[in-house]
Amino acid sequence: MFLKVFRHKYFSKKAFGKSNTVCGVAVNRLFVNSDGSIALCPILNEKEHVIGHIKDNYKNIKKMWLNNRLLNYIRNKEYLNETCKKCKYLEYCYEGCIGKSWQEQNNYKKIDEWYCNKIQHVFKR
Ligand code: SF4
Repeated sequence: MFLKVFRHKYFSKKAFGKSNTVCGVAVNRLFVNSDGSIALCPILNEKEHVIGHIKDNYKNIKKMWLNNRLLNYIRNKEYLNETCKKCKYLEYCYEGCIGKSWQEQNNYKKIDEWYCNKIQHVFKR
């Protein structure tokens, strides 16, 4: 049953494209800090994750959105670890929270064990 739900068109690659992320970071949202700096998300909001400033980018936000190196790095999933790359559930999983990974390991690659276990539990039923 869960597999059917996850394979439904709203959860599939068709709906999200290959760029899907679990929370929509770099796919359908950005985060604006109270100082106007534009960052990836509320967790990834520090200097290394800031991609612009609202006062500089408000006129060409689309250009920034489409061309920013960090956003494209995430969309293209260049950060994926080897385990996730080979995982049969990758299409449905979206690899968990990259913000949590950054907090724990200073990169986006660490597997979110809690999330990974939940996904695998659902699909192994
Ligand atoms: S289920 Fe686990 S190993 Fe597989 S893609 Fe998701 S996080 Fe990676």
